[in-house]
Amino acid sequence: MADTGTQAAPAPFTSADYADRMARAARTAADAGLAGLIVMPGPDLAWLTGYLPTATTERLTMLVLAPDREPGMLVPVLEQGDARATAGAGAYRTTGWKDGEDPYAAAAALLRPDGRYGISDSSWAMHLLGLQRALPGTAYAALSEALPMLRAVKDEPELTRLAAAGAAADAAYRDVLTVRFAGRRESEVAADLAALLLAHGHSQVDFTVVGSGPNGADPHHEAGERVIVDGDMVVLDFGGLKHGYGSDTTRTVHVGEPTAEEQRVHDIVREAQQAAFEAVRPGVACEEVDRVARAVITEAGYGEYFIHRTGHGIGVTTHEPPYLVAGERLPLVPGMCFSIEPGIYLPGRFGVRIEDIVVCTEDGGRRLNATPHGMALVE
Ligand code: ZN
Ligand code: ZN
Ligand code: ZN
Repeated sequence: MADTGTQAAPAPFTSADYADRMARAARTAADAGLAGLIVMPGPDLAWLTGYLPTATTERLTMLVLAPDREPGMLVPVLEQGDARATAGAGAYRTTGWKDGEDPYAAAAALLRPDGRYGISDSSWAMHLLGLQRALPGTAYAALSEALPMLRAVKDEPELTRLAAAGAAADAAYRDVLTVRFAGRRESEVAADLAALLLAHGHSQVDFTVVGSGPNGADPHHEAGERVIVDGDMVVLDFGGLKHGYGSDTTRTVHVGEPTAEEQRVHDIVREAQQAAFEAVRPGVACEEVDRVARAVITEAGYGEYFIHRTGHGIGVTTHEPPYLVAGERLPLVPGMCFSIEPGIYLPGRFGVRIEDIVVCTEDGGRRLNATPHGMALVE
């Protein structure tokens, strides 16, 4: 397989693309009965405008989207140049505020005094409190709750990026199978994984879980100082961003020959992952995919050891709506992209998880990871 790191980058999103996203977001907000959306630095702002300020955000930066007005961004004057230089800048107008001025008074001029606004989850509490002080008649709802579908349905250019990230994660996994496991620390294998993700074109590594032996029973175990030994199951869960979109893959490998029980637990998780994948089609509720995975594991007698939801959405972040979890009735829609990652965690002993990124299409699920699910044996 060619090195996915050397493939041409996809054409960048344009001002027109961002204008379209902002217009859709404003319409969706109005449909949901909101006066508009307030978006501060974070993934929603990056997705809507292409602007991802790297400076500290104790100075208020705030995009306001409302159905009846042009998108407006309030920015500290010292960052106004950057805010005007991003790909989406043609699609919003910026207003600068200077140190010493009250940014919340400036923000109030952009808002309806009695409006109910959706506000991005990553907005700082101090900024929301400032807005509430300046406009006591306003009300706010978290964007992920008010508009869970805002970024959930991906278009073709987004799916192309997610597929490229998935292929790069596949390549990183294929390469990590050739490194030495036995006798090395989890943190060393994690460093190998991170280097491989970057080598295959990721710009950012978000996590490299290496859970060996009993540590594998902690689903989000941080790779640590434990030395991996022959006979260990090792959970490898890794991902990050490539071309601005996420990867997130888990495979569980074994050092040397597995026991019959280890093989059996792995087979059950593999079967649960496949069953959940086959349940994906438009109109099926998110919680149904979780139920299908859980049923396989429960029937095999390990239900109490599957201690997390089955999956989460992925896009410009590695964890976002929709969530495949009991109680989430949101129906799957073509273009939704999410993980399917059942697991079994036996405390003090070992864990197994298998995770792919899947896109819902008109005909069912399509995997964005092509790595085989069998338990790879490493040395
Ligand atoms: Zn073993
Ligand atoms: Zn993962
Ligand atoms: Zn995941």
